Formats: sequence, structure tokens, C-alpha cells
Amino acid sequence: MDHEKYMKRCYELAVRAGKKGFDTFGAVLVHNGEILEEAENTADWDKGIFGHAEFNLVHQCANRYSDAVLRGSTLYTSCAPCERCLCAIASLGVENVVFGVSYEAFSQLTPGEASPVDRESLLRGLGIRMKLTGPVLEDEGMHVFEWWGGDYRPLKELIAEMADVKAGHKEEGAMIEYRKITDFPRGTVYDILRDAYSFDDRNKQIWDKNWKETDDFFYDNPDIADRYGLVSCLDGKPIGFVTWDPRSRPEYVEIGHNGIREQYKGRGYGRLQLEEAIRRIRTYAGLKRIIVCTNSNLIAPKNYESAGFVLYDRKPNETESAFTGDYLYYEMIL
Ligand SMILES: [Zn+2]
Repeated sequence: MDHEKYMKRCYELAVRAGKKGFDTFGAVLVHNGEILEEAENTADWDKGIFGHAEFNLVHQCANRYSDAVLRGSTLYTSCAPCERCLCAIASLGVENVVFGVSYEAFSQLTPGEASPVDRESLLRGLGIRMKLTGPVLEDEGMHVFEWWGGDYRPLKELIAEMADVKAGHKEEGAMIEYRKITDFPRGTVYDILRDAYSFDDRNKQIWDKNWKETDDFFYDNPDIADRYGLVSCLDGKPIGFVTWDPRSRPEYVEIGHNGIREQYKGRGYGRLQLEEAIRRIRTYAGLKRIIVCTNSNLIAPKNYESAGFVLYDRKPNETESAFTGDYLYYEMIL
């Protein structure tokens, strides 16, 4: 069977929808090995527009193909169809549906759990023949959701965030609070930096002295530390900090250090910390842009991009820290 071939096409359509700012779903109708129609998700939650990919596909096919062609066709969809789409597919008369991501796997990204209902039997009870086949290339299909709504976010982070919601934390980062650097003892900044860069021993060899100087600077200048920096706390424990340099206002403010302890990375805290810093920086009257320099092999670029920063320059890193990747220059025009 060519299930994988058609599923890959569904995933392409889903990512394309995501990059347009929609949720990431795609579907195709195949007859005798030929793709007859393709559709992307165009749902708009705010406007109450349904727009699911399968539903859009059904509308494209209605009044266009005979019952015989539709009965002999297979509908491929990037994710197991919701109930409304199942009904739409049934009314179109398509009897074979192949899905990429299963209901169970998809439920990792939704607040609720997958319903254990046997959909084929339910439909059969209504006299509707439908065979649901899948999952197909499910791992690949799960990664498609990284483009959900247009902002790239790692799958691991999306699943962790929803796991928090399921655990009863209603809002992302409900437990995170932002405190002053001087609420914590001298050495805290150094300790977070050392931890944040502990993924590679070479960092400490190169930067240890700089981290100590940074710590000294902020604790020797508490006014600067507390006006132009903040510490992210989880249950009272400092898990990260960010600072910014306001001296080039109103032309720009440059984000300086921005780190999260290793064990808290990939769980959305880096993004929340950055958003809080941006929120504070934006209050400077007449400010034109926020800039930051980071390295291509770090996790930070993803955070900056998902917060709305745009890459405007890139330079090779030929220093001893070349292993952290090229220098990437991001900006946010205000
Ligand atoms: Zn649907």
C-alpha cells in the first residue's frame, strides 16, 4: 500500500496550514492511486469558523465526483478525524479513511483524553460502512504539530505544557513568579549560568571567569540588577534569569544574559521568562526595537523566534566557542 506516500502529502499540507497561522491538519482524497483533491485546515477559532481539513475536503468533493468514485476512494488525513468530520466523510460516501496520528497520541496535545468509543461500530449501527485505518507514520505526524498556529515549538515542549494543564495547572506558568535578582544571595546569577550552560563542559572552561564577573557586577550594582533584570522562580526556587542593557535607548534595548537551568529547559519556562522581559522592556517610551545576539546551536533561537523576534544577520563563529554555532542576530521592531 502507498499509505505512507499519501500520508506524507497530508503532513506537508498540515505544515503549510500551520505556517499560514492555522492549526496543522491536512487531508487528501485518493482514487486508483491518484490524488483527486487536497485540503488544508482553515479553522478560525475566534470567528467560529469550523474549517477542518477533512471537512474542507468533503466540500471540495461534493457535487464533483460520482458515488461510485467516492465509494472506491480513500480519504487520508493527518490526524484521526473528529466526530463532525467523520459524519461529513460518511455523508460523502467515502468508506475508507486512513489517519496519521491516532486519537490517543493526539490527546497528548489536548486538555481532554481520547474517547474510547468504537467509531466503526457506532457508524455501522447507523448503517454506515466506514473502515478507519491507522496510525500511519505517527511519530512524523506528531512533529507536524510543532507548527501549530504558525509558531514553531518543539513537540516535547507542547506535550509537557499540556501535561501540566492536565495535572491541574490551569494556565501555563501559573506557578512561575518573577523576582528581583537581589532577592537572592550573591552567587545566584553565577550558579544559574553555570547550570544553564552545563550541557557542554567546554562552556565552563571558556566562560567561568565571565560568569563570575557577571555575578559580581550585578551584586555590586543592585540598582542595575533589579531595574534591568529579573529572576524566574518556581516554588520559590530561582530557575532562570534575564537581563537587558537599556543604554542605547530609544534606538534599541539589547537583551543580555537569558538562561534557564538545564532541568527546566524545553518546558516553556524560557519562553515565559523572555515574554516577561519583553513586557517590561516595551514600557520604555519611544523605544524602537529590541535586539539580541545568540548562537545557532543553542535552544534560545527557538524561544526568540516564537516570541516574535526576526533574524536579521548571521555571522560565523570562529572563536573558541565555535561549537555553540554561528552568531545569530535577532530583532523585534516595536
Ligand atoms: Zn474535524
